[in-house]
Amino acid sequence: MWLFEDELPEGRFCHTCLQYMPWDCFHMHRDGFHINDRDNRCKTCVNDDLSIRRRLKRENPVPADGRCMTCRNKTKLVLDHDHDDLTFKGYVCQKCNLRGRTSWRIYSK
Ligand SMILES: [Zn+2]
Ligand SMILES: [Zn+2]
Repeated sequence: MWLFEDELPEGRFCHTCLQYMPWDCFHMHRDGFHINDRDNRCKTCVNDDLSIRRRLKRENPVPADGRCMTCRNKTKLVLDHDHDDLTFKGYVCQKCNLRGRTSWRIYSK
C-alpha cells in the first residue's frame, strides 16, 4: 500500500514533496523506539509544515472547551490543516487526525 517502500541505500523519497533525497536530508527519530529510523518527510518539508502550523495556530487559537471538533472528546488536540491548499481545518484529537490521514491521496494506492 505504501508508494515508496523501495528505499535505496543512499536515501529515500520524501512523502511530501516526492523528491528522492539522501539520508542526511531527513531527521533521525530519537524516541528510543526508532533508532536508525528517519522521518518520511525531508527537513525542508518538516520546516515548511512547522511554519505553516505556527501561522495557523496564531490565526486560529485552540478551542476554549478543548474538545475535538470531530468526535467531541476532550483530549489533547492537534491542529489539522488541508495538505493541498494549506488552509486551517480545525483542531482534532490524535485519533481523528490519524483517521483523516488514511484518506490522503498519496498514501492510498
Ligand atoms: Zn520534502
Ligand atoms: Zn476526535
